[in-house]
Amino acid sequence: MVSLANIPSKLNILGTKWKVVFLDDHKLGNDEEDLDGLCDYQASTISLYSKCGTPDYMWKTFFHEILEALKIELSVKLSHKDLDLLAIGLYQVLNDNRLLTKKD
Ligand SMILES: [Zn+2]
Repeated sequence: MVSLANIPSKLNILGTKWKVVFLDDHKLGNDEEDLDGLCDYQASTISLYSKCGTPDYMWKTFFHEILEALKIELSVKLSHKDLDLLAIGLYQVLNDNRLLTKKD
């Protein structure tokens, strides 16, 4: 069973220190849209809505936001839908090969 406990509070993305925060507020963005995750490039912060869904969904959202950061940093052209598909694929590979489970 995958756990949210392994989602780190700090992340190094291509040499930049990022924060990962869980928020109880569903209004993550500046607009009125309900977002489950937000990649704030200016603040180097990934925010995740803490009640957005199952741990599986949270991980996929987490990966999506990491990919958003990489997309900007690497100037690659990927649509929001592309990032969703990559996040789902990445999650499947890492989870099914037990790379998301903390080992002692
Ligand atoms: Zn996105």
